Amino acid sequence: MTDDRVVVALDVGGTGMKCAVVRPDGVVVRAERHPTDAARGPAAVVGTILDVAEGLADKARADGLTPIAVGIAVPGVVDEARGVAVWSANVGFRDVPVRDLAVARLGLPTALGHDVRVGGLAEARLGAGRGSGHVLFVAIGTGIASAHVVDGTAAVGAHGAAGEIGHILVRPDGPRCGCGRRGCLEAIASAAAIGRRYAELAGPSADAAVTAAEVAERAATGEPLAGQVWQEAIDALADGLASGQALFDVATIVLGGGLAQAGDGLLTPLRAAMRERMTFHREPHLVAAALGDEAGCLGAALLALDAVGVRDHQEKR
Ligand SMILES: [Zn+2]
Repeated sequence: MTDDRVVVALDVGGTGMKCAVVRPDGVVVRAERHPTDAARGPAAVVGTILDVAEGLADKARADGLTPIAVGIAVPGVVDEARGVAVWSANVGFRDVPVRDLAVARLGLPTALGHDVRVGGLAEARLGAGRGSGHVLFVAIGTGIASAHVVDGTAAVGAHGAAGEIGHILVRPDGPRCGCGRRGCLEAIASAAAIGRRYAELAGPSADAAVTAAEVAERAATGEPLAGQVWQEAIDALADGLASGQALFDVATIVLGGGLAQAGDGLLTPLRAAMRERMTFHREPHLVAAALGDEAGCLGAALLALDAVGVRDHQEKR
């Protein structure tokens, strides 16, 4: 049987939107990127989301394909059941009924998801967590967030805010977090925090902004200050992930986001630090994400397929 069904998927970030037309087996048949240009305000961003989604659906039809659903991933707090983007710092959403707006515009079933949760969904079903029933996906970038995926479904939480592992307290007297509290994991081990900490210790005479990736590189070449900052981050991450493992007992922890690009420079010391913290817990496989920055878009596609009951092909292909 030939299958001409496709879904339209959008992953809306603070700076750009990754968009695709995706087959039920997870294969991308068309990919586009568009600027979010969030400074225009949330109404204009939603207008662009709807224009891009409609454009992709039209292009799919022109290619002889049949769009059957739309999946849209956004950052912040997302009420997936109601399809509402509740709050987002970097896109400016406040209670935007994205799903209903998309249904009205495109006439297709639409699912709205959270960017990290759908990224975790994609890594668990199509990427580095494939074959593991229980996966914790942890995205480490400007902030730190996670998705707990069990048998291909990501837990959303009662208020759409599950997975905020970045706000687990790991250092009671640590630096102030963006959330207002002191010592959150994110305030110590996010890429942004690592860069800040290095600059703080290097002092005002040092060369300006150093990224977390550069700290990782310098640590690998034996620079003592970078080594210290990197190890502080590794220890904080190990504390946070050990808490995650105590809660969820997953088979695999998949690390994504910019920091995961440090590869073995991150994974090797983090595995050792995790092992030290495991008492009766079973040690999870700790691996780097496999789908790169396409995970969110693929996850949005999976959410759309789930919404119309088309599933179980990805695992079989
Ligand atoms: Zn916090």
